[in-house]
Amino acid sequence: MATDGKKDLHVLIVGAGTSGLLTAQGLKKASISFTIFESETTSTYQTRPREWGMTLHWGSTHIASCLPPELVERFHEAYADPSQAPDAATGLPIRNGKTGELIMEMKAEKPYRVSRKKMRNLFKEGIDVQYGKQVERASVGEDGKVKVEFEDGSTATGDVLVGCDGAKSRVRESIVGTEAAKLTDVPVSMFNFPYKFDAELASRIRQQNHLFTTSIHPDHGTMFWLSIQDVPDPSKPETWTFQILQSWIDDTVPPSTDLSTFEGRLAFFKKRSAEWAEPWRSAGLAVKEGTQIPLDKGTYWGRASKWDNRAGRMTLCGDAAHPMTPHRGQGLNNALQDASNFVSALLKVQIGGQSLQQAVQEYDDEVLERGTLEMSISLKQTLFIHNWETLMQSPMVKIGMHQAKKEDASEA
Ligand SMILES: Cc1cc2nc3c(=O)[nH]c(=O)nc-3n(C[C@H](O)[C@H](O)[C@H](O)COP(=O)(O)OP(=O)(O)OC[C@H]3O[C@@H](n4cnc5c(N)ncnc54)[C@H](O)[C@@H]3O)c2cc1C
Repeated sequence: MATDGKKDLHVLIVGAGTSGLLTAQGLKKASISFTIFESETTSTYQTRPREWGMTLHWGSTHIASCLPPELVERFHEAYADPSQAPDAATGLPIRNGKTGELIMEMKAEKPYRVSRKKMRNLFKEGIDVQYGKQVERASVGEDGKVKVEFEDGSTATGDVLVGCDGAKSRVRESIVGTEAAKLTDVPVSMFNFPYKFDAELASRIRQQNHLFTTSIHPDHGTMFWLSIQDVPDPSKPETWTFQILQSWIDDTVPPSTDLSTFEGRLAFFKKRSAEWAEPWRSAGLAVKEGTQIPLDKGTYWGRASKWDNRAGRMTLCGDAAHPMTPHRGQGLNNALQDASNFVSALLKVQIGGQSLQQAVQEYDDEVLERGTLEMSISLKQTLFIHNWETLMQSPMVKIGMHQAKKEDASEA
């Protein structure tokens, strides 16, 4: 099994998403030995059907501590549209879905759209990912070593395990138990899928804003989001991929609606799109018959509480530690801070001589506090923006997209 760096402290990273890969880069930079495992195979890792863009803002300050300078230099390669300047936007415009009128701009620190896939591909450069390794469970043995067991029957051992395996984390289950690890459903559902339009419509969508624009429909509070996801050729708008996201509170859906079939979802999507102002109306109506739209439920880790990290041997990072609803654009930003903080914690052990137990406990305490705060503020954002009556009391009005502070818990 491939490893990098020193052998005295060996870290097992589960999941090669952005949090796992940034952790790997940071450990490599710090010369701390690790192995990173990913359940997808080399081919499905590149072809997975679910890809989306993310707004990177305050979290970008945590990248340079982990990435080598040559990858920091090339960071623009992860942008949804690398031809855009990083300071092209100051915030996210929110419009009235029925009239198109601008309601407000959700303020953020240098927001730009990054592609989840491009970011993974950049972050994995120089990292030897072990693909096709699906972790089933993890535990700490009597020898004090942490052991992970894979679906293929193989095992791996190390000194510390960090679960970067996303919202449905198996590592979280191994640490807190299946029941306590469960996600809590939010009564909000969403369609989230990539789409290419013809050149005229693609250009028209970006006239309003080059990166993103969103709207809330006053009649039922549905959100309709359009953002740029990939620009292979800036001069050919027909090659651009957009992210389309519609989300709504479940009880606003008429009882006759059938969301269990692709036909029913497309019919519902088009019916709602027809009620919108431009450019959302044209964008929604342009989606071709036969398009298979996935349906997702909003979830978060409502049972989150202090976990037993087995004397610092097992911990969590990114969505595995704080899966949240996406409407405040915070999951990735927090995941990047987690990765950077985790590497700093292990440096305190490897170089500073701190005990593993103390370093990981300090890391865990901060992640849990920051994560539970953001999960609750993001939940409030999700519930409040999908209702015209509460929209202007939502966290986006008071704190924009900025990182939440403790005092925001009551104010936001
Ligand atoms: C629609 C939507 C929009 C969003 N927009 C934003 C935004 O604008 N801004 C923002 O900050 N965040 C946003 N987010 C959140 C963001 O996408 C996540 O917070 C971020 O991708 C989390 O990264 P991660 O590395 O923790 O998890 P993931 O990216 O999910 O990576 C987990 C990895 O672990 C692997 N894995 C899973 N299980 C196992 C296993 N058992 N064994 C081995 N490997 C495993 C997976 O295959 C995957 O590669 C959005 C999310 C959604 C759904």
